[in-house]
Amino acid sequence: MQPSAVHSGRLIVFVGPAGAGKTTLAHRLISSAPQRRRFSVSHTTRKIRPSETDGVDYHFIDRPAFEALIRADAFLEWALVHDNYYGTSRTEVERDLAAGRDVFFDIDIQGALNLHRQLGDKTVLVFIVPPSWAVLVARLEGRGSETDATLRRRLRTARTELNALRESPLPWLVIINDKLAPAQQDLERLLTSAHPGTPDRADLVAQMCAAAAADPRAEAPT
Ligand code: ADP
Ligand code: 5GP
Repeated sequence: MQPSAVHSGRLIVFVGPAGAGKTTLAHRLISSAPQRRRFSVSHTTRKIRPSETDGVDYHFIDRPAFEALIRADAFLEWALVHDNYYGTSRTEVERDLAAGRDVFFDIDIQGALNLHRQLGDKTVLVFIVPPSWAVLVARLEGRGSETDATLRRRLRTARTELNALRESPLPWLVIINDKLAPAQQDLERLLTSAHPGTPDRADLVAQMCAAAAADPRAEAPT
């Protein structure tokens, strides 16, 4: 007999700084069990990037269309992030959960907390961190796609989200994405465990918050 999945029909919510590896890890986990897992494709008003595909990375729509969907209560949650709207379609998620599939999200921390408020025990909150603040900065710089202004904005957001993580009373699973394969294995083990729990990462998170506080590029603009 095949072992049945210990959990099914959950919201696996990935949060973490840009460049932490959320998309890469989510897609690897989904590829390993595509029948049971799906990526939540958000709607956004941001412009499509050359590397992206409409309907795969996001559903790209304009502001009036997004605002009409807000009025129609079509979103489970939505937020303004960096001046663009982002939202999670209610019907797509409900359909997957009803079919017993786990739905993976790559959303900001406000969206994650909002999903947790609404669907509490169905939600697994996962915060992906690089092994240090210095590695985070190096990965963002290494992508070569950041201007000085966007790098600063991403570092400010990272600082805010790390502080929010440190203060959150919720049971976050904190995954260190140093090398991809061990991080994927950690996640796979946790997602198939009846009682997920991770080693206490409070020290690492505190160290990263301190490094962020000392980095002038992560300061809020005056
Ligand atoms: P996010 O979705 O959190 O912004 P991505 O998954 O897009 O991050 O990853 C950002 C970049 O870092 C990608 O080029 C990805 O291939 C790379 N990356 C992800 N994880 C690792 C890792 N453990 N080591 C080195 N590079 C990584
Ligand atoms: P990007 O434009 O770089 O793809 O994403 C910008 C930010 O928006 C990221 O922090 C991403 O996680 C977040 N985001 C993407 N989709 C959603 C969503 O549906 N809801 C919320 N709240 N945030 C989202």
